[in-house]
Amino acid sequence: GPVLGVETSCDETGVAVYDLDRGLLAHTLYSQIRMHADYGGVVPELASRDHVRKLLPLVRETLARAGLGVGDLGGVAYTAGPGLVGALLVGATAARALAWSLGLPAIGVHHMEGHLLAPLLEPDPPEPPFVALLVSGGHSMLIEVAGIGRYTLLGDTLDDAAGEAFDKTAKLMGLPYPGGPALARLAEQGRAGAFRFSRPMTDRPGLDFSFSGLKTQVLLAWQASDRSEQTKADVARAFEEAIVETLAIKCRRALVQSGARRLVIAGGVGANRRLRAELADAGAREGFSVHFPRFEFCTDNGAMIALAGALRLAAGQHETPAIAVRPRWDLASLPPVA
Ligand code: ATP
Ligand code: MG
Ligand code: FE
Repeated sequence: GPVLGVETSCDETGVAVYDLDRGLLAHTLYSQIRMHADYGGVVPELASRDHVRKLLPLVRETLARAGLGVGDLGGVAYTAGPGLVGALLVGATAARALAWSLGLPAIGVHHMEGHLLAPLLEPDPPEPPFVALLVSGGHSMLIEVAGIGRYTLLGDTLDDAAGEAFDKTAKLMGLPYPGGPALARLAEQGRAGAFRFSRPMTDRPGLDFSFSGLKTQVLLAWQASDRSEQTKADVARAFEEAIVETLAIKCRRALVQSGARRLVIAGGVGANRRLRAELADAGAREGFSVHFPRFEFCTDNGAMIALAGALRLAAGQHETPAIAVRPRWDLASLPPVA
């Protein structure tokens, strides 16, 4: 039967119902971004409390939109980690309690597996093997995907994640939180070639990333500039180009190294238009297919958790009723689904 998915790892409360035969039946999302904006970043305790307020109303609304009652559900999936421990515990406790009261199996999903599988919510989903670029607020990873749950880490960031680099760079130029999408919008007004920043770690072999030096380059260029609105847009554009080209170079390398012909992009930075366009062009030129989630499923959502949970529950995987979360959790340690 349909699986209820619950996401509460950070500052978005996401709920969805996914059915392996019928697809996504409904999804709802509440973002806490406006609440945290006053503090310039996510305040963990406020996040937990807001998940407590929003989660059950969203579960009711999602089931209503799907035209289902709790009795129609076949299982429950929730994000068990990685993420903020208090926020994770809200979703895990509600999901576990619901499953226990209904006699349903429940499974704790890895948040990054959720991101990684989000493109499977779209038409024409990619079949493994593929390479996945996971670029979000907390992660920048290249993963070789041999099957669902068969993940090998090819590359990781040595310092800032790609989304974190967007957010911190935006902040140092005075853009409001959350900076990533704001910086990307500003970059559209930037002029090509006005500034140029380096493509970190592309001059040597390997698939790891490092983005913190780029932030320093931007800071120095910005401080030395006239700080006009046009300059701000020019710097934003050069920064975005540097990140996007760096990611694209490493994606191509990962495809060559793994021999895969399909590339999946997921996580919040996957919503970046320049990144999507650049990789779609590279794929068309070089003969690999490129798969993204729709924009709203790049950032955190319940649909990706419901999907990942449905696949694992269908393979007979679920856990004892104990409520446990894993604020740190290695993606490569997951059991294969088949
Ligand atoms: P993780 O998934 O690693 O735990 P997270 O859940 O906080 O981290 P996501 O919700 O996947 O991260 O993505 C949020 C990040 O994506 C933020 O850093 C945000 O700035 C970035 N982001 C969102 N839209 C864009 C965009 N259009 N361009 C660049 N960055 C973006
Ligand atoms: Mg978020
Ligand atoms: Fe996320």
